[in-house]
Parts: sequence; C-alpha cells; structure tokens
Amino acid sequence: MYLVSACLLGLKTRFDGSKAALSGATTVPLEELIPVCPEQLGGLSTPRLPSEIQGGRGEDVLKGRAPVLNSAGEDVTGYFLQGAEEVLYLAGLYKVKAAYLKDGSPSCGSSYTYDGTFSGRRFPGGTGVTAALLRKNGIPVFNEHDLFSHCSAADTK
Ligand code: SF4
Repeated sequence: MYLVSACLLGLKTRFDGSKAALSGATTVPLEELIPVCPEQLGGLSTPRLPSEIQGGRGEDVLKGRAPVLNSAGEDVTGYFLQGAEEVLYLAGLYKVKAAYLKDGSPSCGSSYTYDGTFSGRRFPGGTGVTAALLRKNGIPVFNEHDLFSHCSAADTK
C-alpha cells in the first residue's frame, strides 16, 4: 500500500477548494493508493487561507524552529503537526511502502516549497511538514512526477 495526496486523485482538498489538475493512469494501481490530506486531517477547513513555512523546512517545523503561518499571519503550525501525525499513524496502520505527495505544499512538498512571502517564489529543497515526518520515520516520499507518467510542469502549479 502507498499513501497519496488526496488532491492528486481528484479530491477538492486544496486550500482554495480545487483539486490538482492531473489525470491519466497512475504508475501504482489505484487499489494500492490510500488518499490523505494532511491539512484536512489536521483540522483545517476547506477552503482555507494558503499557508507557508516561515524561514525553514518541514524538518525545522518538527523541531519547533520554524512556524507555519497563513496569509493572514495566523500561526497554524499546530494543525500542520497534527495532520502529519495522523498521516504517520495511517502509514503505520497500513504498513505503507512509500508516499506520493503533491510537491510544493507546506504539508506535502518533497523537493520544494514556497519561501514564506506568499509571492509565489519557490524554496528549492524545501519539504512539507508531513513529508518530513514520513521521511524521518523511514518512509520514502515521492511526488506527482513519479505517480503520473505524463505529468507536465503546467500540471503541478
Ligand atoms: Fe491536502 Fe497535501 Fe493536497 Fe495540500 S497538497 S490539498 S495538504 S493533500
């Protein structure tokens, strides 16, 4: 079994109530994919304000060295930590081999996030809070390019 970001399977879980614009066959059989949205599991509503990690990566959030703020400046770190713990719980329950998570997200990002200024500037190497917690516990994290064979850059905004 594998975890997958719910928005990648077409669920409208993103902060603005949209899904990720991806379609087509997955490289993993659908019946082996468990959809999760860490931000919803952490207690945030949909739609919700966008959030970004401030001054660090997911690993820094786990260590209490960086907060997650929404675009109104509210500290939503607790929701992100709670969501990550819930996803880790499911990973253990189903003994998942890996997770395919939506890159760029402050929860799910695995190769980049955004720089905390809400200006659309990427933070290369940034990781989301859930991705960081899964990796810390030995679970490999991949992104949508590994799940969809025909995933273009335009699909991943
Ligand atoms: Fe939820 Fe992750 Fe998709 Fe954001 S990227 S909507 S947290 S599953």
